[in-house]
Amino acid sequence: MSKLSYDAITSLDRRYLWHPYSALSPQQINYPVASAQGCTLKLADGRELVDGMASWWCAIHGYNVPELNTAVTEQLDDMAHVMFGGLTHQPAALLAEKLVSITPENLQSVFFSDSGSVSVEVAMKMAMQYWHSKGHPHKQKFATVRNGYHGDTFAAMSVCDPVTGMHSLFNDTLTPQFFAERPACRFGESCDGDDILSLKTILQAHADEIAAVIIEPVVQGAGGMWFYSADYLKQLRALCDQHNVLLILDEIATGFGRTGKLFACEHAGIAPDIMCVGKSLTGGYMTLAATLSSSEISQSISQGEPGIFMHGPTFMANPLACHVALRSIELLLSSPWQDRIDAIEQQLRRELATCETSPQVQDVRILGATGVVEMKQAVDMHRLQRRFVELGVWIRPFGKLIYLMPPYIISSEQLSRLTAAIHSVVKDF
Ligand SMILES: *Cc1c(COP(=O)(O)O)cnc(C)c1O
Repeated sequence: MSKLSYDAITSLDRRYLWHPYSALSPQQINYPVASAQGCTLKLADGRELVDGMASWWCAIHGYNVPELNTAVTEQLDDMAHVMFGGLTHQPAALLAEKLVSITPENLQSVFFSDSGSVSVEVAMKMAMQYWHSKGHPHKQKFATVRNGYHGDTFAAMSVCDPVTGMHSLFNDTLTPQFFAERPACRFGESCDGDDILSLKTILQAHADEIAAVIIEPVVQGAGGMWFYSADYLKQLRALCDQHNVLLILDEIATGFGRTGKLFACEHAGIAPDIMCVGKSLTGGYMTLAATLSSSEISQSISQGEPGIFMHGPTFMANPLACHVALRSIELLLSSPWQDRIDAIEQQLRRELATCETSPQVQDVRILGATGVVEMKQAVDMHRLQRRFVELGVWIRPFGKLIYLMPPYIISSEQLSRLTAAIHSVVKDF
């Protein structure tokens, strides 16, 4: 394949392409990547960057992973895709079995979709259809906490933080939901009764219209990279049971080891009624997500009115994606992933915690393979981005947050490059 130059790609990009949360503007800077290997991104002009983002939580094994490359070609020889209506296949069957075996025991059925946002839509529909089948058709609303992030489609957006999610732009179309205060108790601390009071008050007053509480367990990701007490989740589980409200856990960012447990709900020892996974499900190779639910929910929907679940994406259970996901999970489970994440966490504590002494820094927090430096003021993302690229690293800050979530296979030398770059940027502030 002939390769375009760095400038040729950039010029086409500026002319035609939208990027996530960006303007279409000639001033936009997006760096062309020609290839990626291990923990390194290689730009089209030959510069190499150590990757601190794992492509937004996804590339847990790094890039160009031999086992996953093989998985793609293996599956290509059989078929890239077939429709899932009336047909089924080995990759979906084996992946479903694997997901059920590694997630909380009560989760027994799997709905595959093509992105995290869609898996959240599916979870919300499942909760609504469940209550409909139980003779409670008025339970159609959702409760959540502030500073959450669940995706960019409309129902998912309705439960994102109303401020950072820019609800005001879409107000006439967005369903109003119930928002409690974000959990204030930090991860590792216990959680006194007051913290859950805000959510408790909502459930006490409105449980008859609420289908489910939806929340990211332990780590709030794109809504502010906040790590809260597992104790809060325990109390939330009890509260949901008490008020006849389902619990949906969005493990799209936290699943597959990122927080030090395979799934973040394990920190609290609780199980949701419905759980969403995505992002690192395929090791960052392609887009796939899944919504898992308890038998109680799937049975009730299947036996109630109208007796079917009302969703069915064209690319549902895409065989290529399912096969790669299965191999990615096998690769993760056969690797010393807990030791790796533990080592990343220890190193982040040693090398990042000292940022806290800077007068510009509000807070440093570290959990598993994620490290966050929260500044007192919003950073100039484009300026910082340029500086990081000059320093040979790929780190993309947002708002007040400069953060790392590298592939689990990162070496300690590479991780030190990332933390040194953050120190350098913080010092320049
Ligand atoms: C990224 C993310 C989503 C949305 O997933 P997409 O694949 O981008 O649609 C939903 N919830 C959480 C917690 C996420 O981090």
